[in-house]
Amino acid sequence: MNRRQFNFGLLGAAGAFAFRPFTFQSQLRVNGPRIVEHINALAEFGKNPQGGVSRVAYSEADRLGREYVFGLMQRARLEVSVDAAGNIIGQRAGSVTNLQPLLFGSHIDSVPEGGNFDGVVGSLGAIEVAQTLAENNVTTRHPLEVVIFQNEEGGLIGSRAMDGELTEKELDLVSRSGKTIREGIKFLGGDPTRLSGVKRKRGDIAAYLELHIEQGGILEREKIDIGVVEGIVGINWWDVTIEGFANHAGTTAMNNRQDALLAAAKFIEAVNRVVTSVPGRQVGTVGRIQALPGAPNVIPGKVILSLELRDLDAAKIEMLYQKIRTEANQIAVANKVRFDFKEINVNIPAPTDPRIRALIDQSAKELGLSTKQMPSGAGHDAQDMARLAPVGMIFIPSVGGISHSPKEFSKPQDIANGVNVLLQAVLKVDRVTLV
Ligand SMILES: [Zn+2]
Repeated sequence: MNRRQFNFGLLGAAGAFAFRPFTFQSQLRVNGPRIVEHINALAEFGKNPQGGVSRVAYSEADRLGREYVFGLMQRARLEVSVDAAGNIIGQRAGSVTNLQPLLFGSHIDSVPEGGNFDGVVGSLGAIEVAQTLAENNVTTRHPLEVVIFQNEEGGLIGSRAMDGELTEKELDLVSRSGKTIREGIKFLGGDPTRLSGVKRKRGDIAAYLELHIEQGGILEREKIDIGVVEGIVGINWWDVTIEGFANHAGTTAMNNRQDALLAAAKFIEAVNRVVTSVPGRQVGTVGRIQALPGAPNVIPGKVILSLELRDLDAAKIEMLYQKIRTEANQIAVANKVRFDFKEINVNIPAPTDPRIRALIDQSAKELGLSTKQMPSGAGHDAQDMARLAPVGMIFIPSVGGISHSPKEFSKPQDIANGVNVLLQAVLKVDRVTLV
């Protein structure tokens, strides 16, 4: 008699039938080598010489990769279909009627010259969870849905369709594959004229869980097994235009210049100073700069640069932005230039649900794994799902903190750990009612 049978017998004899499935469930483990096998098989679709993949959304490699994943989901005994937005959904019935489904999944599209783990670990991990449940004849209370979102890297298209945010205008944008999003949805077996059918509203989903690689180096550096994500940071982008006056670099005296690039240099330094002036994990970046007219013998008359601020707290982003504006005004006066800020993009922060966070943390600790609460600096489908349902995210270490690169790697043990935490967290969330 192994330990599992022993526990079974003991509890059965004690008449504690109601607790029997829970004890059994907490001992379930996923098949680590099988996940690695699936990761390697999926890596063939869009494989590139650098050892990574170029599986951009709506490419032939993406379509074939999705076909492969569709088959894996069928083998995991899920009821699989492609929704009108082109997302793959694998359903599994629950035992309690009228409960909303519990969703978990990720994406398998990549950036050009991407790696084999971003999105893939969470997608194949979710399928492995379903397969483990099927093999052990576990029926959850909630219906389950494994979701493989489409085109995460090109703007969270599949998950945004689910929360009804995808606009008609956006459907005509050309994606990296060369196809418009509208064409891409059709290419993946969806129907862009029926997107309203994909839309879910708050209360339609019990919870959403996503396992993902960290894509940063914190977990590896601190030797921590599992990151419990506190939320996906808000991202604000501005285009900043600095207007000076272009003039002869040889004949214009130093005290008589309106040098837009000099002002930009002071601005970049000010952004760094403001962002690091308060405690916290906020980040601020000037990542793009263009000086005009761009000649060695002309004083730059105009500079266009980007400003990006990220934090879990939208109010903090606003506070930092106002401080940066004040600095810009001072630089403008001192350098006789004019600053203009144009807001380009705002992604509001998406906090995860504290109750799910606690269940993820508990699941990891019961598996003997160390945890750390941390924000996600990168965007994920979970941020859209957070508009619809309580969400939770699990991070595993990325070796060297490298991502969006063929060098992206996560160790098989870390992957198995993450998928086991996902499995246990799904089972724990299943036992509670969150909405
Ligand atoms: Zn991803």
